[in-house]
Amino acid sequence: MIYPEVDFDKTSLEKCSQQLWSILEPEIDYLNEDDKKVVELAFTEMVMAHGEIRRKSGDFYIIHPVMATITLARIRLDRDTIAACLLHDVPEDTEVTLKDLSKEFSPEIVFLVEGVTKFSTLKYQGQERYVENLRKMFVSMSKDIRIVFIKLADRLHNLSTLEHVREDKRHRIALESIEVYAPIAERLGMSKLRSWMEEAAFPYAYPQEYEILMKNESLNVKKREEDVNYLIQKTKNILDEAKIEYNQVVGRSKQLYSIYKKMRSKNKKIENMYDLVALRIITNGIDNCYNILSLIHEKFEPIDGRIKDYVNMPKANGYKSIHTTVRDIETGIVFEFQIRTNRMHQFAEYGIATHWAYKEGSDKKEVNKIKPRNFQWISELIELGEQKLTQEDYLKKVKLNLYKDRIFILTPTGDVLDLVAGATCLDFAFKIHNDVGKTAIMAKINGNKAKLSDKLQNGDMVEITTNKKQTPTYQWLEWVKSKMARSEIKAYLRKLRQQESDDSNTK
Ligand code: MN
Repeated sequence: MIYPEVDFDKTSLEKCSQQLWSILEPEIDYLNEDDKKVVELAFTEMVMAHGEIRRKSGDFYIIHPVMATITLARIRLDRDTIAACLLHDVPEDTEVTLKDLSKEFSPEIVFLVEGVTKFSTLKYQGQERYVENLRKMFVSMSKDIRIVFIKLADRLHNLSTLEHVREDKRHRIALESIEVYAPIAERLGMSKLRSWMEEAAFPYAYPQEYEILMKNESLNVKKREEDVNYLIQKTKNILDEAKIEYNQVVGRSKQLYSIYKKMRSKNKKIENMYDLVALRIITNGIDNCYNILSLIHEKFEPIDGRIKDYVNMPKANGYKSIHTTVRDIETGIVFEFQIRTNRMHQFAEYGIATHWAYKEGSDKKEVNKIKPRNFQWISELIELGEQKLTQEDYLKKVKLNLYKDRIFILTPTGDVLDLVAGATCLDFAFKIHNDVGKTAIMAKINGNKAKLSDKLQNGDMVEITTNKKQTPTYQWLEWVKSKMARSEIKAYLRKLRQQESDDSNTK
C-alpha cells in the first residue's frame, strides 16, 4: 500500500501531530516555500479543529486527513488541493465552519472544501437517493475535478481502516467503492488508484469469494512472489548472455480482485489463467521486442497458441505489447511474458493520457485515432513531474481541457457511461449495446418521456425502451453525435442496401 507504516502516538496529540508533519513535509517538497506555508497553516488549523477526536481504532482523527493528502501529494497536485484535502472533514466533523475557514484561506481552498463536504453523504440508501447523490457528485466533478481527487483519496484511506467499522456499514462502503469510486478513478485515467481501491475493498465487498481465493493454493501470494523473483533473475541472465539490450525486467503476481473479475467476466477457471504470474520486459525499439520474443521461445517452452501480438494488432483502447505464455522447463511454472517498449509501457501504466503526451507532435495519426481529450489532465500530471510548470499554469490547462467535451450519463441501475458532449438518447442507446441502439424506440430522461434525438446533460439518468421490430433509418444519422453510433447505423444501412440490390438482381 502507499501509506507509510508508522506507529502513531496514541497518548499525546502533540506527538502524533509532530509525527504526521514529519511525514507530510517531505511529500510536499515539490511545492515552493510560500505554498508550503499555506499547507502548513492548513495542517495546523486541521489539528486544532479535530483536536482530541479519535477514530474507532483509538488513533487520533488527524491521521486520516494527512494520509489522504499523501496520496494526492504523490501525484503532485497543487497547493490548494493539498490544503483542502487536509481540511476536508473540518466543516462536517468539527465546530469550525466554512465561514471560519474563509477568514484564513483563499476562496479557492474554501470552495474545494465545500465541494467535498457537499457530497460526503453519498450513500447506498435506495436507488433513488443513490442516483441523486451520484448526480450531485457529477455536478461537483464538472465544477472542479480536484474535488473528486480529494474524495477519491479520502475514500482510499477509509478503505484501509475498514476493519474498525461495523460490519454492515463496512460492506456498504466496500461495495460502493468497487461499484462507483473505482470506475470513476478508472475513467479519469487513475488506474493505479483504481486498483488500490479494489484490492482494499475486495475482502469486505465479497467476503466469501475473497476467502475462497485466499485459500486457493495456486494463488498463494508468497509462493507467487518467490516464483516472480526466480524468473526475473533467470530472464535477466538470459538477456545478458545474449547481449540483448533491455531497460527493465519486472514481475507481478496478479491481484486477487483482478483474478476474481476475470473469473466472473470471462467465466474463466483459475487453472486456465496463465497470467497469475507475469514478467514484463521493457526495452527500446520494436525490433528488440521481437528479438527478445524469439530468444524467450528458445529458452522457455512456448505454450501452443498463447502468443498475443498487440503490437501488430493493438487492443481497442490502444494497448500495445507482445504477450506470450511459456513454461519454465526447470520448475514447470507456467507464466506470461509481456514484452514492450518504454513508450508502450508508459501507456499501459497510465492509460490513454500518456499516449497523448508521448505521441503529441510525433505520431499524429495515432493521436487522431484516439482523441483522449477527457484524459489529457493525467498526461499533464505526468509531464508536471518532468517539466518546470507552475502550479497555476498546470491547473489552468487541466480546467480548460477536462470536462469540456465529455458528459457522464447514468443508467437506471446506476452504471455510469461517458459520452461526447451533445450526445443524444440514441447515442446513449448505442453506447449501452449495439442491439439496444438498433432497436431503440423511446427514451426517458430523469423519468420524463423523451425523443431519441433529445440531447443529454451531464448527470442525466436515461432509460431506453426497445422493440425488436425497430430498425435504423437514414434520419438517425442526424440524431447521433458519437462516431461509434454513426458507424453502426451506416453499417446497417449499407447492408440493407446490399440486400435490396441483391434481391432485385435475382428477380
Ligand atoms: Mn474524510
